[in-house]
Amino acid sequence: MEPALHTSERAESDLTLRIVRAAAEAVIGHTDELTALDQAIGDGDHGINMKRGLEAVLADLPQLRGKPLGEMLKAIGMKLVMKVGGASGPLYGTLALELGKHMPASPSRGDLAAAFAAAIEAVKARGKSDLAQKTMLDVLAPVQAKLAEGADLCAIKAEALRAAEATRPIQALRGRASFLGERSIGHVDPGARSAALFVAAICDTLEG
Ligand code: ADP
Ligand code: MG
Repeated sequence: MEPALHTSERAESDLTLRIVRAAAEAVIGHTDELTALDQAIGDGDHGINMKRGLEAVLADLPQLRGKPLGEMLKAIGMKLVMKVGGASGPLYGTLALELGKHMPASPSRGDLAAAFAAAIEAVKARGKSDLAQKTMLDVLAPVQAKLAEGADLCAIKAEALRAAEATRPIQALRGRASFLGERSIGHVDPGARSAALFVAAICDTLEG
């Protein structure tokens, strides 16, 4: 039997589930765009990788209901590692797992920013990567900075979309796109775009 939850905990859990659903659906809804971006500088599977993993997360939502936020994020991270595949699966999986490890049940903005910072460091370690290499990190890090400085949701969303677009002139130094050398210049990084879509959907859901 499910443990009884306080009304406020139930409401928080429902909001978290709505955020997860909205974020997953936003990226699934852009499968073709992500495929096209990855066709330009990778192997064309980013859209389908994300769709496969996120559909598995959506199918899991009933089991996630009522779990503490940290446990929910860890379960999502495991699912992403198992189902997304490619380079992005372990990296997004690490991001969610580490967010879960550092996330208290009812996080303050400061808690969120700290957990996000720790998760970004874990992605860097896992990917042996850093900023300005044309990856998802080029969106995640500036979004974390905005969150930490107290920016409002609208500004955080705008920063995510701007930062993804700003990967266009960068030469890829990590991932498959790096094999193209200078020819990777002039295209938005697919993982940066999927990260921006996640952030935008989360902001929209919290705003609504
Ligand atoms: P694959 O490159 O194995 O086909 P995907 O196409 O699903 O995997 O994901 C590609 C995205 O993963 C890239 O656009 C980039 O944002 C991200 N990525 C790849 N390698 C790294 C890395 N070492 N560190 C951070 N992000 C990376
Ligand atoms: Mg790919």
